[in-house]
Amino acid sequence: MKKLMGGAGSLVLGAILFSCFADDFVFVCLGVIPVKLIVGGSVAIYLSYVRLSEELNAQENSEALGKDENQGQEKDQDQSHEENSVQPAFWGNTQSLIFHDPQCNFAQSKKCTQPFPDKESAISAGYSPCSICLLGSS
Ligand SMILES: [Zn+2]
Repeated sequence: MKKLMGGAGSLVLGAILFSCFADDFVFVCLGVIPVKLIVGGSVAIYLSYVRLSEELNAQENSEALGKDENQGQEKDQDQSHEENSVQPAFWGNTQSLIFHDPQCNFAQSKKCTQPFPDKESAISAGYSPCSICLLGSS
C-alpha cells in the first residue's frame, strides 16, 4: 500500500506542477519533470492495483478450486452408486432378439437397448442368449 500512496502522491504533485507550468514558457524546460511524475505515479498505481487484484484473484481461485474438488468427489461417489444399482445384468438386441453380457462387444451395438435384470426375464421376453458371451453358462 505504501507504493500505492506514493504513486498517488506523485500523480497529484505532477498534476499540480503541470497546471502551474502549463501556460508558462518555463514549461518547456520543467514540463518534463511533472510529466515524469505523472507517468511514474500512474505506473506505480497501476502496478499496485494489478498486484492487489492478482492477490484477490488467487485467493478466490484457491477457494473455488477447493469447492470444485469436493463437488467432484461427491459426483464420483454418486455415479459409482448408480452403476451398482441401475446397471442391468444383460442387454437385449431389439433387432436380433439376442441378449448379451454388458462386457460383450455386441452389447455396445446401437440396437442393444433392452435391459434385463436376469437371464430368465430375457428368455421369457423371447430373447435368446448370445452364443459368444453367454455360451455354456446357461
Ligand atoms: Zn454377446
